[in-house]
Amino acid sequence: MTDALTAQTVELLQQLIRNRCVNDGTVASGQEVRTGDVLSAYLEGTGLDLEVYEPDGAPGRTSLVARIEGTDPAAPTLCLMGHTDVVPVTPEHWTRDPFGGELVNGEVWGRGAVDMLNLTASQAVALRALARRGWRPRGTLVYLACADEEAGGALGAGYMCKRHWDALRADYLLTENGGTVSGHGGELNVTVHVGEKGVAWRRLRIKGTPGHGSMPYGADNALVKAAQVVTGLANYRPAPYVSDLWTAFVGSLDLDPKVKAALVDPSRVDEAIAGLPAGMARLAWSATHTTFSPNTCRGGVKTNVIPDVVDIEVDIRTVPGDNEDEVRRHLDKALGALAQEVAVEKLFSKPASVSPTRTPLWDVLGRVVEAHYPGARLLPRLIVGFTDAPYFREHGAVAYGFGLFSRALTAEAMAGRFHGNDERIDVESLALTTQAWLNTCELFLG
Ligand SMILES: [Zn+2]
Repeated sequence: MTDALTAQTVELLQQLIRNRCVNDGTVASGQEVRTGDVLSAYLEGTGLDLEVYEPDGAPGRTSLVARIEGTDPAAPTLCLMGHTDVVPVTPEHWTRDPFGGELVNGEVWGRGAVDMLNLTASQAVALRALARRGWRPRGTLVYLACADEEAGGALGAGYMCKRHWDALRADYLLTENGGTVSGHGGELNVTVHVGEKGVAWRRLRIKGTPGHGSMPYGADNALVKAAQVVTGLANYRPAPYVSDLWTAFVGSLDLDPKVKAALVDPSRVDEAIAGLPAGMARLAWSATHTTFSPNTCRGGVKTNVIPDVVDIEVDIRTVPGDNEDEVRRHLDKALGALAQEVAVEKLFSKPASVSPTRTPLWDVLGRVVEAHYPGARLLPRLIVGFTDAPYFREHGAVAYGFGLFSRALTAEAMAGRFHGNDERIDVESLALTTQAWLNTCELFLG
């Protein structure tokens, strides 16, 4: 049985999926104005203040802000933020129409169903329910439905936080990447994203000397050197980063206690990861190391010309504490003697960021989770990808990734559907998340 609020979340989510606000990284894509209009129409007439923002030179890339003003200026402001864009799909690999928003056997299908139109829709439903009943909280509630998260957020949350912070002024932020439930041995955990790794995208330019391809002996071939650079990056093993967050996460895993002990010991963690199943090993390595993934290579002009320049782009993800200088030191170590011959260009950087867990909002989230999953504990996580949360952390806000999902929607199922094929979400999760936003607002701002 579906209650009235959940039915609204389902319907709104279906509309947002059908709007296909696909962000391919170009300024002309996304066109989140379509979803902004749907959300505005849904929220209108409830006494909410609605404001639409569009960055200069990016028509259609709108973000929407709605507010319920608090009565006590000293009380904190909570922002619920959802992005409205989604990543592209390969329709041939889908069982159903990726933009159909179909409801089949208790699941809503489509691109954005878990990343993150589910949250954007359920936040709007909670906000409207509160506004309609004339709720007057002590603290202010802000809702931000923003564009462009999937391309880094410069035209969405980044633009809002840099240019229109006065419209937000959030002390606390709740957004994506939490809320999955896991448990073993009678223990139940609900994940909350409290921090994320940093990003340091770099272009490495390797120069050589052009020459005739018929005489390669002793040649200064940029591509040959680039191959060594790539190998150096692939084989590089930086020192592990074993934090409290990692230790808590390992504690929640259903693994042999000996393996768990090794995973939290800096001198043994690398070896322990090597013995894990492939999927878990991949995650564990990223959670405990700054990583280097050489992902593009451009160079050479013709089959018979020795190339004089090759560009390699490397996706570097940093652990907390690895600043720009440290990234450079890592590259120098990874490349060894070749480092002298490589010019490093910064493409995109942001530091890792972590919010504290000893906060009033953390306690409220614990109570909300307890109400739906008795005995469950919050499990703080450092995520290895990135979200819009750091834009808020830069302003001193405490930012968490939250939500509340069904037992059926495991972290593994989630991971496969994020940017994956056959993305979908069960209605029970939509019901839980909608209730969780309502409960959180009432308890925290009430
Ligand atoms: Zn997302």
